[in-house]
Amino acid sequence: MDTVYTVREYEKRDRELIEDFRKQTFIEGNDSLTVEKFDPEKLEGLTLLLFCNDKLASISVCEASHYTNDMTIAARICRFHVLREFRHCNAGFRMIRQQVEWARQTGFKSLYWTNDINKKILNVLYQHERKIGRSGLEEEYEIYKSFKLRNDLLFRVSKKSDFLQYVYEKKLDENFLWLPKENMIYYAHDGKDINVEEVLSIEKQPNVWHFKTSFKKSSIHGIGRFCEEEIKNGEVVCTLGGVLAEKSFKSGFMPMGENTELRCQPTFVNHSCAPNVELKEEKKFVAIKDIMPEEEICIDYSNLKEKDKLVLSRCYCKSENCRNEIFGNKNFIS
Ligand SMILES: [Zn+2]
Repeated sequence: MDTVYTVREYEKRDRELIEDFRKQTFIEGNDSLTVEKFDPEKLEGLTLLLFCNDKLASISVCEASHYTNDMTIAARICRFHVLREFRHCNAGFRMIRQQVEWARQTGFKSLYWTNDINKKILNVLYQHERKIGRSGLEEEYEIYKSFKLRNDLLFRVSKKSDFLQYVYEKKLDENFLWLPKENMIYYAHDGKDINVEEVLSIEKQPNVWHFKTSFKKSSIHGIGRFCEEEIKNGEVVCTLGGVLAEKSFKSGFMPMGENTELRCQPTFVNHSCAPNVELKEEKKFVAIKDIMPEEEICIDYSNLKEKDKLVLSRCYCKSENCRNEIFGNKNFIS
């Protein structure tokens, strides 16, 4: 007989089922599903139950992102548990469609989950570097694949801890860049080999923007940083923080010379062949023309001092003198 899977929302009458499930997770050596951490009746959000032939196999929660103080902007998928005997039933896939629908209907712009940077096997899966069996679940697999690693930040469980997690996000509004307010560290990375000490030291030296800026969909690429007040030619727009270090060629930091890079927080500044700011000595973005409100702040990547440059991608800056391709260090992420 074929296995029948059903997914539905938690109801009060499921309480006993949940308590049995909780006990079973403890027996299986997982102690994270305590009553303090998971009480479906106190929880504001969506608790989904996955049944496998009428047996509760897995649970997962979607809730407003109170961790990051973005209660109306982002929702977090958490408390995902699968009982051992159901580990191979792709439980996560089976609930993901309802979670995305719920987050969309509730008005969130972003939906995410996080995973410990040290749990390598799971991160390889979440970064879509290993194929997963998905027969009959092709559509769900596509939804799962639309959750992408945020390579500009890391989740920090609390300010006092150095326990870091990767963030996997699905944008529910493509024109919106979610910049979490709390418990996140802005740090460019490629999802591998995080140096926790370095991450924490960069966090203590953030970039300082001297003018009001905002984020919007850019006609050049993805989301860009836009000026919100007039900036005069020659004024310092941003003083970059971070630490100078020997070039790693590993992750995306600001090239500062042949052999050095500035490991600073991402600036979200796009490339343009007709830039309006330039990176000057002493880690400063300086305006090279007057910049008006609503204008996108851009630098010319090819002016950054470095060696081993190559064509990064096509350029869509649409400026009169566009060189049609972006030339720079392959690891550079703005
Ligand atoms: Zn261009």
